[in-house]
Amino acid sequence: MKIIVLNCGSSSIKYQLFQMGTKAVLAKGVVEKIGLHGSFIKNERNDGDKLLLEGDIYDHQIGIEYVLGILTSEKHGSIKSFDEIDAVGHRVVHGGEKFNSSVLISDEVIKMIEDCIEIAPLHGPPNLKGIYAMQALLPNIPEVVTFDTAFHQTMPDYAYMYAIPYSLYKKYGIRRYGFHGSSHRYVSQRACEILNVDYNTQRIITCHLGNGASITAIKYGQSIDTSMGMTPLEGLIMGTRCGDMDLGVLTFLMTREELDIGTANTLVNKHSGMLGITGVSSDMREIIAEMENGNERAKLGLEMFYYRIKKYIGSYAAAMGGVDIVVFTGGIGENSDYSRAEIAKDFEFMGLEFDAEKNNGVHGKEKIISKDTSKVKMLVVPTNEELVIAEDTKTIIENQRTQNAAKLMDY
Ligand code: ADP
Repeated sequence: MKIIVLNCGSSSIKYQLFQMGTKAVLAKGVVEKIGLHGSFIKNERNDGDKLLLEGDIYDHQIGIEYVLGILTSEKHGSIKSFDEIDAVGHRVVHGGEKFNSSVLISDEVIKMIEDCIEIAPLHGPPNLKGIYAMQALLPNIPEVVTFDTAFHQTMPDYAYMYAIPYSLYKKYGIRRYGFHGSSHRYVSQRACEILNVDYNTQRIITCHLGNGASITAIKYGQSIDTSMGMTPLEGLIMGTRCGDMDLGVLTFLMTREELDIGTANTLVNKHSGMLGITGVSSDMREIIAEMENGNERAKLGLEMFYYRIKKYIGSYAAAMGGVDIVVFTGGIGENSDYSRAEIAKDFEFMGLEFDAEKNNGVHGKEKIISKDTSKVKMLVVPTNEELVIAEDTKTIIENQRTQNAAKLMDY
């Protein structure tokens, strides 16, 4: 079975073509700067063949048309025709309260995703563009959507509610939804496979630390709390997002600096976080290099970033009545041994003994980084959200085929 996974952002499309039996990625790539000057497509085949196409790409449908052309091209393609594609899996950021798992696309599902746009105005429209484009280009191929929010739909109400008038929750669906769900799900399950323990018996804290960062408490197989909220702004300090902050700061600044809503939104989403504090960069590699050169604000930013994560780990351990496993993932979590060491120190009080030697030099690979004697295990697990989407798509398509076969038997 071959499955294409699509991740459509406002001006980009990331894609991977999977051969499901072996889980091999036959080709992957990205379309960038859609609707802007200087659009381009990069495709990489699993035998190392690389292609860069430059030229204006006006919208997502044209971008996807090019991608399909590349994937089936004689010179740079990976398949002979579209008939070889069994299904398409889409990443959709916000599924609101309507979706707690991946689903097969139907008109009803599309309507429900459209209804979620009000609470996800930035992410919903480009996600839908990818779905509309695929329906137009490959109308006979089944499509599945996987939601970033779905994994967190198991949170109890006292964890997802905000303390604002209850009527506003009812009216607008204002509550914590959480994001990076496929990543938290994948790395928590994978950690249990590596440790050879039953997922449904473990209390796990997963730290997804990338440009966007979130942390999740998973108790006995279910997400019970997560740091991102109704939008991906809440929680940890991120590359350019402030994370948790007294809301009074925003209203103060809006008044004193006479900021309109758009400017205030840009301030906390694009000019804050590590970039705002350090004034150097949002990129962790550059910030660590600056800190090593003696830059005090880079040092302060890093201390704030690590401190916030430590506070969340402590509070999630309390929320679960203990913790068995802590997992690092995302660009920083997977690659920065320095960051992991700073976060992991001083947790002996709760049974976590960090092993600095095992941690040193671990970049982008699975590794247990706690001491053998440690009661709480700590691991690095590179995330693979695309594989989660591909596997969910495969499961749903196979179920549908079984149901169709059963229906035929009835006749
Ligand atoms: P996104 O949220 O955009 O998917 P990523 O998960 O790719 O982000 O993470 C990007 C972050 O990972 C950047 O801050 C980058 O500096 C950081 N990063 C990647 N490699 C390293 C490294 N070796 N050391 C420190 N930080 C790293």
